[in-house]
Amino acid sequence: MKKSMIFVTILIIIITTLLSCNNKGNKENENIIQEEIFALGTIIEFKIYDEDSKKAKKAIDESIWRIREIEEKMTINKEKSEVISINQNAGIDFVNVSPDTFFVIQKSSEYSKLSEGAFDLTVEPLVKLWGIGTKDARIPKKEEIDSLLSLINYEDLLLDEKNLSVKLRNKGQAIDLGAIAKGYAGDEVKRILTNNGIDTAFVNLGGNVVTIGTKLDGSPWRIGIQNPLDERGSHLAIIEIKDRAVVTSGNYERYFIEDGKKYHHIMNPKTGYPAEEGIISSTIVSDSSIDADALSTSLYVMGLEKGLSLIEKMENVEAVIITDDNKVYITAGLKDSFKLTNPKFDLIEKNN
Ligand code: AMP
Ligand code: MG
Repeated sequence: MKKSMIFVTILIIIITTLLSCNNKGNKENENIIQEEIFALGTIIEFKIYDEDSKKAKKAIDESIWRIREIEEKMTINKEKSEVISINQNAGIDFVNVSPDTFFVIQKSSEYSKLSEGAFDLTVEPLVKLWGIGTKDARIPKKEEIDSLLSLINYEDLLLDEKNLSVKLRNKGQAIDLGAIAKGYAGDEVKRILTNNGIDTAFVNLGGNVVTIGTKLDGSPWRIGIQNPLDERGSHLAIIEIKDRAVVTSGNYERYFIEDGKKYHHIMNPKTGYPAEEGIISSTIVSDSSIDADALSTSLYVMGLEKGLSLIEKMENVEAVIITDDNKVYITAGLKDSFKLTNPKFDLIEKNN
């Protein structure tokens, strides 16, 4: 081949490659339908990738409707809800609830048992006393905390599966589904999007991420793990996932600082104080977002050793735990999909 011919051929290849890259970029941008709402006490962000924007919008609308329905039933921050009714009838009577609320309470009860009370849905009196994340947040007196500890006991939750009804054994007891309801909403959103024919989606429910499929080019979704010691939005690692959920519980979500000490929103039900078991962030990767949500809170309270040994017994569930000595522990299944991006942290890979 003549030199000039070779040159022209190379030029054509370069131009074609550039054009195809450009098209790919445009295709991705053209086909993305985004929406943000405020619900369940957080910002919820939808990114749907589909050529049919009408179909995607319908799927998002149905999801939003469903999220609001879940919130109406399970909130403790409004005038009324099914959960508020259960709390008002503590020590008095069983309350009939919807299958949704019953399911989430049942799951919470399972995780309370599994974590031996590190996760405890009856933690509400403590959550209210501390008021973390509200304008009334304060450090309570030790006597105030101690006087509530006997109320915190998931074994006092009575479930009547046949009649879908629930009762708390004693007056003053109350439940809070804040550690699990967003996880349930995540699973429901994924179900609704899938039923609407959506194959590619990323939804972030305030730190509870659910994904459908892979990115359009077939590569995995890249999820940043927040650096708990840095400002919001700065990550210390990336996890690559396909079609799974990633949920993080961290001490940076809701907190206040007094005399240089951080008081965050995840309670240790045994002490009555914010959990201080050496963990500052725990992330779970799993197929189900409700399980990931319950487990990330559980691990935060259980601490490193107990937490990891619980996860290692479970199939298809992985964890990333960040401790207060700047170490990042990952379970064996994340070896190939986890990348530490901040050299100030040490990575420790656990072998099952
Ligand atoms: P998460 O951010 O998912 O870890 O959930 C934290 C929220 O769950 C808090 O804001 C409380 O409403 C509630 N919560 C706090 N501590 C616990 C606990 N030990 N078990 C269950 N729920 C908790
Ligand atoms: Mg949680």
